[in-house]
Amino acid sequence: MSERVIPLVDERARGGAPSTVRYHTSGPGAMAEVVPNGLLSDGLGRPLRDLRISVTDRCNFRCAYCMPKEVFDKDYQYLPQSALLSFEEITRLTRQFVAHGVQKIRLTGGEPLLRKNLEILVGQLADLRTPEGLPLDLTLTTNGSLLERKARALKDAGLQRVTVSLDGLDDAVFRQMNDVDFPVADVLRGIEAAQAVGLGPIKVNMVVKRGTNVDQILPMARHFQGTGIVLRFIEYMDVGATNGWRMDEVLPSAEVVELIHREMPLVQLEPSAPGETAERWGYANAAGEHDPALGEIGVISSVTQAFCRDCNRARLSTEGQVYLCLFAHQGHDLRDLLRGGASDVQIASAIAAIWQGRTDRYSELRASLPADVGMPGQRVEMSYIGG
Ligand code: SAM
Ligand code: SF4
Ligand code: SF4
Repeated sequence: MSERVIPLVDERARGGAPSTVRYHTSGPGAMAEVVPNGLLSDGLGRPLRDLRISVTDRCNFRCAYCMPKEVFDKDYQYLPQSALLSFEEITRLTRQFVAHGVQKIRLTGGEPLLRKNLEILVGQLADLRTPEGLPLDLTLTTNGSLLERKARALKDAGLQRVTVSLDGLDDAVFRQMNDVDFPVADVLRGIEAAQAVGLGPIKVNMVVKRGTNVDQILPMARHFQGTGIVLRFIEYMDVGATNGWRMDEVLPSAEVVELIHREMPLVQLEPSAPGETAERWGYANAAGEHDPALGEIGVISSVTQAFCRDCNRARLSTEGQVYLCLFAHQGHDLRDLLRGGASDVQIASAIAAIWQGRTDRYSELRASLPADVGMPGQRVEMSYIGG
């Protein structure tokens, strides 16, 4: 296995968060009031459709590509309880995001199922409606470790589906990747429980890291083929500042597709929605046509194929900062407004100002950098804003 490079940045001092932009309701620099009409678009004409909400910065795993043990150790300073948005605060903010056009909500973290009573938040979000009166697409990304226990309560509260992260089927490989010796069987039981209560269609996300779990690609594909579960392969990304990312550890998605296609023929499928990050490939029958009974896989090529042009996602951190890109250097604070007594229109106006100023397109810019480097600078950690 290749050596891991840990940069000399002390992340512990700042809880994974870079600098913050603040908004004011009065005085010089006060925001113009904007009444939401569901039509907000950013500086590059992209709508706001997808909100990812991080409900905790803590996790019970230590995946080296996300929360390496060397940094996220016993001295690491997580956010204090008082810094976290309450469920009521999250729901109030989300209502304004929805008024601006958000249709899809994903709860994430850290490990979202570590947040106590999460089903209460799920229930509150499930009650929200779009301006057209439709329910939201409400989903959650989890490492699956607590899913067996929580699947039923989440479903009953109104969660529609889950995405489970799983980087391999081999127990030794999986235990090494989560770095806390967690057994793969428990995650598989969590997936079964989610399927049994109807939290589907379920997606399983596998981050592929060259030198670590490439030999798990085919076993994973075989295991999930024909189960109704969509397996998605994610290129290892240069998010955050702690994972010691190197380009030579990225396996391009094209190689994943080629590898599977040799054993289980694939045909490319149409994207399911605009802004969809995954390229879809269906398993083919003997006639070379997609066989829906065999299902499909997805590949997310965040490194080798930029998809910023359609990126319609905002991220809300555990402490109420909006991030406009996974690779952002800066958050936009909404918690001060919330706790300072701002009205709904003032909160909606801040969201409008934040989104209208957005020109982020990191992955496209990365393509113009030398092959072996990520973008320099102080970036937000994946565990802080969620995937
Ligand atoms: N703990 C939950 C989980 O693992 O599903 C939710 C949060 S996790 C940050 C969200 C997703 O980000 C996971 O699917 C994880 O595999 C992915 N992720 C984390 N670091 C990554 C990296 N450096 N490159 C690609 N994906 C990454
Ligand atoms: Fe935890 Fe998810 Fe990050 Fe792994 S990827 S360390 S499970 S937050
Ligand atoms: Fe969106 Fe940023 Fe990813 Fe581009 S790099 S797709 S703007 S999150």
